[in-house]
Amino acid sequence: MLRISVLGSGSGGNSAVVFTNETRLLIDAGLSSRQLNRRLEAVGVEPESLDGILITHEHGDHVRGLDVFCRVVKAPLYCNASTREVMVTGPLREPKSWRIVSTGGKFMIGDIEVQTFPVAHDATEPMGFTLRDAESGIGVLSDVGYVTNIMRNHMRGLNTLFIEANYDGVLLQNDTKRPWSVKQRILSRHGHLSNDQTASLLGDIADDNLHRVILGHLSQDCNEPQCAVDTVKQALRTRGRDHISVICAGQSEPTPCVPAVRGWTPGAGMARPAGMARPADLASSPPLETSDGMTGPEMATATTTTTTTTTTTTMAEPSPSRLAYEQAELF
Ligand SMILES: [Zn+2]
Ligand SMILES: [Zn+2]
Repeated sequence: MLRISVLGSGSGGNSAVVFTNETRLLIDAGLSSRQLNRRLEAVGVEPESLDGILITHEHGDHVRGLDVFCRVVKAPLYCNASTREVMVTGPLREPKSWRIVSTGGKFMIGDIEVQTFPVAHDATEPMGFTLRDAESGIGVLSDVGYVTNIMRNHMRGLNTLFIEANYDGVLLQNDTKRPWSVKQRILSRHGHLSNDQTASLLGDIADDNLHRVILGHLSQDCNEPQCAVDTVKQALRTRGRDHISVICAGQSEPTPCVPAVRGWTPGAGMARPAGMARPADLASSPPLETSDGMTGPEMATATTTTTTTTTTTTMAEPSPSRLAYEQAELF
């Protein structure tokens, strides 16, 4: 079963972790390295046990912590060639271990199948992801100017969606801090999704498989978590999908670690897999917004893991034994 925690989301930095008993993947690294380490440990994942870091696009709020984080954590970076090219000439000063994937391609990391797909945003070649194991599926869609049929198709049939709801249209129009040009960028077809756009997408694709929606990348000035949740829930309600849990990820604390399928619990006596730290007590960090069916963290005791390894980073070619690349789909 896939599990997810959004470690932080918003213009101040974005990162999430998705994992099974066998495989642990970080998606984006826009928080500081210190915060990435702290929050991974808080949700029970040892940073050094990561099997890969997936990069959606090169904007600072998605890769800011990568350079420092990867000095100790040697997990390979998965991104497309264009994104790598712009990152090595910008935010990444040191060599890294890269796995170059195609936009629209599908590959395996451990027991997680990753599908990438193109999104519309003002970055070099931004991507969305779906992640699947034998039992469940999670979709990740953030930093998107408008919704395409490709996105709609990829987001269908999954159990949990982590999806952007950046702004409320009225709050953005009334905002006095942002100049007109910035508002135009946000509203453009290469900007961000509004609550209404996200609600419309979710209303279109919600089905019996969908259990959870985690809304992310909320603007601090031009959105309100309750407003975003209400807008989405209203769209789901009109389609008879009241059962779907909707919460907002926030900037300052991770969301509780939850299984992709609501109500699922690990079998009694299941051993803690290698690489899983003793999980932290998140009771002091409750879900940031309306939980609506969200159970608290199942994990109870805090611990700290210290990372000390300092090996030399190397450039690496994709390993055929680890990656089962498939022909890129043409959309
Ligand atoms: Zn962006
Ligand atoms: Zn962003």
